[in-house]
Amino acid sequence: MQKWNGTKVIVLGIGRSGQAAAEWLLGQKAEVTMFDESKSAEAKILAQKWEKRGVRVFLGKDRMGALNFDQAILSPGIDPNRPVVRQLVDAGVPILGELELGSQACLCPIVAVTGTNGKSTTTELITSVFTTAGKKAVGCGNLGRPLCEVAPLTGSLDWVVVEASSFQLETVVTFRPKVAVYLNLTPDHLDRYPNVEKYAEAKARIFLNQKAEDFAVVQKGLEVKTGKATVASFTADADGADYIIRDGWLCRGEERLMRQEETSLRGPHNAENMLAAWAVAEFEKISREVVKEAFRNYRALPHRCELVRVLGGVNWVNDSKATNLDAMERAVAGTEGSVILIAGGKDKGFDFSESRKHLAGKVRGALLMGEM
Ligand code: ADP
Repeated sequence: MQKWNGTKVIVLGIGRSGQAAAEWLLGQKAEVTMFDESKSAEAKILAQKWEKRGVRVFLGKDRMGALNFDQAILSPGIDPNRPVVRQLVDAGVPILGELELGSQACLCPIVAVTGTNGKSTTTELITSVFTTAGKKAVGCGNLGRPLCEVAPLTGSLDWVVVEASSFQLETVVTFRPKVAVYLNLTPDHLDRYPNVEKYAEAKARIFLNQKAEDFAVVQKGLEVKTGKATVASFTADADGADYIIRDGWLCRGEERLMRQEETSLRGPHNAENMLAAWAVAEFEKISREVVKEAFRNYRALPHRCELVRVLGGVNWVNDSKATNLDAMERAVAGTEGSVILIAGGKDKGFDFSESRKHLAGKVRGALLMGEM
């Protein structure tokens, strides 16, 4: 592991990930500076808090004055094309992401979960399978607690399960999850990436450092180089994968494991999330009974196909975590009956014409709002 004692580190971003990184680095006796382009009241309060702890904080600028740093740590929310990042790169300051830093500090094996959609759900599913099996496991990453915040606890954990976004995977160097799960890839974040290929490249870095004794779980049909690890595949769409769905059953090849109906997770997308989690459970030799118990007890996270209320024969569903077209289409496909869709939001560069065929015949009316 890299030695941080006395190293001059600049942490870019004063949000939760940046703060977790700063905290860990201070514990390692690094000389920490923090930077954020925001000058909001909240950022100022945070700046005061960190200044009291001997951290230099620069707020409200888009680049640095002096660049006397040995290392920069990038929060996932900061686009590597921002002027300050370019400036540091040009000055030869090495850049690491918060995920990389957290993984270097991590003392137990890691399951990492990436994909355009289903990361949080699958991260939670795997964590709850582990804990139902009596293992000490914590789910983290994009999901809530940054890995740097959990890393100091990993001495007494069996596993951390980390949700890894493409933004975090862009800046990994030595990150080596013992188990890497790649759920799916559909267009997203085209406001940040020049094309889908670049977005896919960032996500594929999840496999970069895996070795032969590691395990990779990949959606069947995804064209991605998995490297040296043993691979298991899953899909809800067809036969021919290691884990499939057939006649409403989650299956391992020919063998039926459990009916999806026994769980509260609906739709083919959630079947895939469970199949991927099941593959991880089998790698960890967790019994089928334990997996079934964990899945039966699992409740969808808020805002993910969450049934809010049944009123006058109408199911009101909150799926506001569907922030790209595939998520929306999958969620609509997973509902029974006809749908009134309420949708809209930020323009991330999607092509909506493809969505038509997935929604036609199902969506009876749409209320559209927001920037799009
Ligand atoms: P993420 O963390 O990747 O954003 P979530 O588990 O929070 O994923 O789910 C977000 C939304 O994506 C859900 O509300 C649902 O609409 C959709 N979704 C969930 N799992 C999948 C999947 N495996 N494939 C496609 N869409 C999915």
